[in-house]
This record gives sequence, C-alpha cells and structure tokens, in this order.
Amino acid sequence: MSLALYQQMDAADPLADVRSQFQLPEGIIYLDGNSLGCMPKATAARMRAVIEDEWGNGLIRSWNSAHWIDLPQRLGSKIATLLGADSDEVLVTDSTSVNIFKLATAALRLRPSRHKIITEPGNFPTDRYILQGLCDFSGNAAQLVTIPAQDIIDAIDEDTALVVLTHVHYKSGALHDMKAITARAHAKGALILWDLSHSTGAVPLALNECDVDLAVGCGYKYLNGGPGAPAFVYVAKRLQEGIRQPIYGWFGHAQPFAMQDDYAPATGITQMLTGTTSVLGASALEVGLDIFSTVDMSALRHKSQALTDLLIELVEQRCADFGFALASPRDADARGSQVSFRHPEGYAIMQALIDRGVIGDFRAPDIVRFGVAPLYVSYEDIGRAVDVLADIMTHKHWDQPRFKAQQAVT
Ligand SMILES: *Cc1c(COP(=O)(O)O)cnc(C)c1O
Repeated sequence: MSLALYQQMDAADPLADVRSQFQLPEGIIYLDGNSLGCMPKATAARMRAVIEDEWGNGLIRSWNSAHWIDLPQRLGSKIATLLGADSDEVLVTDSTSVNIFKLATAALRLRPSRHKIITEPGNFPTDRYILQGLCDFSGNAAQLVTIPAQDIIDAIDEDTALVVLTHVHYKSGALHDMKAITARAHAKGALILWDLSHSTGAVPLALNECDVDLAVGCGYKYLNGGPGAPAFVYVAKRLQEGIRQPIYGWFGHAQPFAMQDDYAPATGITQMLTGTTSVLGASALEVGLDIFSTVDMSALRHKSQALTDLLIELVEQRCADFGFALASPRDADARGSQVSFRHPEGYAIMQALIDRGVIGDFRAPDIVRFGVAPLYVSYEDIGRAVDVLADIMTHKHWDQPRFKAQQAVT
C-alpha cells in the first residue's frame, strides 16, 4: 500500500479534523497515547488562565468564583457520557491506584460474610499490589485469588466478594466480556470492579446497560488529561446509599466546612472524595474531556478498529521474516485500541523506533506495544510507522549498544 492510499483513507475519516486540536510534535509519530495522551492545543491557554487568573488573582476566592469546588462532579459527569453512566455516578478524584483501594475496600464491607477477591494473573501491577496490600491489612478477612482469564467465569462462587479486572488488558489489548462477567458475578452474589484505564475514551462503554457495580479509570491516557491527571470512580446509583469508602477525608464529609469532630459521609458519589482536589491537574483534564463532547464514540471505535487492523496487516506483511508474534487478539472486536507484538529484542527495537521518531513503548519481558489513539492517529501515521519498523529490522538498526541500555521508564 502506498502513502497516497493512506492519505485517501485519512481524507475519508470523519474524525480527521479532531487531530488538529492536538499539539503533535514535528517529525513524531505518536503511538503511546495509551500511556500518556497527547496535549490538546487548548490546554496551555487554559492552564495559563487557571494559574494566572484563577490562582494568581482570584486566590482562595476561586474555590467559589471559578467553581474549583465543583471540579470533581463536573468532570465526573463529562466522563459519565463516555462510560454509559449517569452524571451523578462518576467523580474525578485521586489516582487510579487509590481509587481501587477505596472501592475494593468498600465492596468487601458490602459482602461481610465473603472473603475472596478474584483477579487475573498479569493484571496491571498496581491493581494487584493494591489488592495484595488490602488483603495484608485485612487481618485475614480478605484473600486474593488469581485466576486465568478464561477460567474466571467458572471460578466466581458464593465465597467471592469481589471480582477486579481490567477491561482492556494493558499488555495484550484483549477485551474482557464486561456484560457476561458482570452477570456471572451477580448470579453468585459477588460485586464487580472494572478498571477502565485502557478503555475510557478508546472503546464505547455501557456500564449501566451491563449493570456494573464499581469502576475506576485513568485521566492521562486516552482522555488526554496530562501527566498524573486525576483519575475517576464510578459507583452505580443503586449502591450509593449503602456504600462506605475507607479513607474518611474532609471532602467526603457531608459538611466539609462545618469542621465537625466526627465523620459523617456525604450522600451520593461525593462520599468518594477524600482530600482537596488537584485543581491544576483537574483543569487540564477538563480540556481533554471537552474534546470528546463532539466525538461520536461509534465512529471512534470504527476508526480504532480500522487503524489497528491496518497496523497488524502491515507488520505481518512487511516484517514477516523478523520474528514478531502478534500478542493482541486478531479479531478487532476482542481488542481495545492497541496492538502488541512479542519479540525477544523488543526493548532495543522500541528504542530504535523512538530514535527515529516513532514513539510506542515496551513492556517487560518482550512486548512491543503500539497505542492507537483514534482522536489524533492517522492512517498515514500507521503506514509511515511500519515503514520505519521495516527499515530498522531490515538493516538490524536496533542491534546497537545504545539501544540496549535500560532506562528508568520504559
Ligand atoms: C495506567 C493504569 C493504572 C494507573 O494507576 P495510577 O494510580 O494512575 O498510577 C492503573 N491500572 C491500570 C489498568 C492502568 O492501565
């Protein structure tokens, strides 16, 4: 296929215009939006306004006058539309890690006679670590059970309090069947907590339709909220009255500024707050979220599947002799918005790609990972990226000491 063909595909892409809303550095093809999304062009001006006007001039008054106090709920309701949830079921707060702790602990309290938390091997490390810590501190009340993905449905039983899964797997991009697993958990009286970090803004979601109990997700990946952007929590409305989260902070109090000695939780999703919102982080995230207000998620999914299909097809065509093995589902319906390949020299290959301006990432031990953020990745990007990869492989360009030195962040 030729460059002209990719350009034709871009010309026919209904989302092509959205790309111009992002700052894309000259000479870079960015295939890592599943790790850190690109910066919307509007973010810099918004941050300048928040810092210079709202903070600089407004000072403490801006909690009211610039509506800082409403950021968690306002951003939550914008994310809710991407989740297929109601606006009062989602809140922006804390990090994904902390939110997993809050919701998993809350879930255990809702199932006091049960001790099992089920997750899968190879789930994102922080998800597993948080659950391990929770179990360690539970006085043997909770036990983490690791079940391979294909056996999870059968493993959920009457001892299971909670199932915690990442909807789109961070390494392989494999997509769990949210509806079926949620239904099975409910049939056995268990609760479900979905981590939507690699799903939100990348695949259409229907939490209410799937009857999901609890969910968390990340603000800095496909939502383009900026490095360390705050995360979100979702709690189904039917659970909000009875649920309690364990980090009793003043912002989750019914009356934060009554300054009472004793904790009394706020009603609704607001109880999921802990402390003061990161106003700068949340303000940047809002710019990323606002881009989605004009985006049709089914068109986005269609583009994501077409781009990832094209990437697989081209790598298998152009790099057939170079030892790549597809590590993502071949069926686009079983895949999120990324493509991964296994290669024993994956680390050096990715370093060589980055050196040539094609930015993906590497996940130990051997995964070369390409995130395809449909808002700003073009068909031409995919074509050009595979051209570079084929060139690097043909000339063994990756086989240099400088590409093999491990860096702190891969
Ligand atoms: C990115 C990601 C996280 C990130 O958690 P932080 O607390 O923001 O560091 C958690 N879980 C999954 C599945 C992720 O992909």
